[in-house]
Amino acid sequence: MKYISTRGGIAPLSFRDAVMMGLATDGGLLLPESIPAISRETLAAWQKLSYQELAFAIISIYADDIPPADLKALIDRSYATFTHPDITPVVAKNGVEILELFHGPTLAFKDVALQLLGNLFEYLLKESGKKLNIIGATSGDTGSAAIHGVRGKENINIFILHPLGKTSPIQAMQMTTVTDPNVHNIAARGTFDDCQNIVKTLFNDLAFKEEYSLGAVNSINWARVLAQVVYYFYAWFRVADQGKKKVVFSVPTGNFGDIFAGYVAKLMGLPIDKLLLATNENNILSRFINDGDYSLGHVVPTVSPSMDIQLASNFERYLYYLYDQDPARVRNAFAELARDGRISFSKNEMDRVRAEFLSLSVNQQETLDIIARFHKETGYLLDPHTAVGVKAALDLTGPDQQAICLATAHPAKFGEAVTRATGQDPPFPPSLVGIDKLPSRCETMDADLEQIKQFVKEKVKAR
Ligand SMILES: *Cc1c(COP(=O)(O)O)cnc(C)c1O
Repeated sequence: MKYISTRGGIAPLSFRDAVMMGLATDGGLLLPESIPAISRETLAAWQKLSYQELAFAIISIYADDIPPADLKALIDRSYATFTHPDITPVVAKNGVEILELFHGPTLAFKDVALQLLGNLFEYLLKESGKKLNIIGATSGDTGSAAIHGVRGKENINIFILHPLGKTSPIQAMQMTTVTDPNVHNIAARGTFDDCQNIVKTLFNDLAFKEEYSLGAVNSINWARVLAQVVYYFYAWFRVADQGKKKVVFSVPTGNFGDIFAGYVAKLMGLPIDKLLLATNENNILSRFINDGDYSLGHVVPTVSPSMDIQLASNFERYLYYLYDQDPARVRNAFAELARDGRISFSKNEMDRVRAEFLSLSVNQQETLDIIARFHKETGYLLDPHTAVGVKAALDLTGPDQQAICLATAHPAKFGEAVTRATGQDPPFPPSLVGIDKLPSRCETMDADLEQIKQFVKEKVKAR
């Protein structure tokens, strides 16, 4: 399987090279040259597989340059850190099937992809004899999942900037209590945008990027999308045959990453009737689907902070398919966005979008109301991101459809909102019990480019 760029400016790459490249060097995103259709017979055979076996069956199609035994071992190692035997179990509550994606080390769905990506990086670096220094900015979830994905790994350092005092206390502790020598937390006196800008500036310094082998772990890496395709199949197998209803997936979305993985599953032939795209008040993607309006707004902070995003980076991958895999049209669309702050779509394009997606933007009061209602009626606690998805599932699912809602975080991770909605603190899962007593390591600095660059240089040289 070869990989190409949505902007058409690179020669086809192997899976290994696509993983190491992350963002395509022409500014586009990497995609497989073709998405293979899965036959009915294969689907039937996959139905019986365990999570790890299914992951191997799907990922090996796209990672055909990794020897099967090695890939199997990488997958097994990646999901050994999950605390549930089904890895991503499905539970039925109030007629909605909840796909729990939060049984990994940092209690959010990003672990599903980043545990695998960390192991893949380590494996590929060992073979090439190279080193990688990952640098990223986080408002909470991605940073902690990335740190747990690469802690203790050979030939990798990770530097994660977070805005001092602006993540939840639990999110900060999940990062700073990882004291492996290759993990470097930086709490910057500033905002998430300050952190993000520093990281962007470091990556734009091409000489520095080259000399220090900088790498990224944000959701643009194809391997992350690929790892997430697996749980759509896994959940569908657990739900689809009950009652013969058509299956829809409701996905709480920020960067369009998780829902794009569902779209890939659909392209592979998994019978998904519709993808329900659920946003909070940061609703550019809902406006796109419901009104054909893809215009940038301002980010507003909400009780579901991991979806407080305007520019959805993975949206470009979907546009590539909407534009019939024509990179020139993708380039034009992003030129229009840079020039006018919006992308416009024809009626025909919007008809095609709406044949695949429905969408709902859920405000904060509605989010808290759903958490309270689910708790009262079923005793089940939803985290605020999952609650956005559940609201969309309840409002948009027809009588002939069965909704599966992706539960993207454990309620204890966003306990404040859950307590506000229910008057009750969510119980701590074992991984959080006593976390405030653990030793921690974190460098507090001004949000100053030169200071942070100096810190990275020193730490890289010291190893
Ligand atoms: C990152 C995140 C999301 C959004 O996922 P995307 O891939 O950006 O759409 C939703 N919920 C939680 C808890 C997250 O951490």
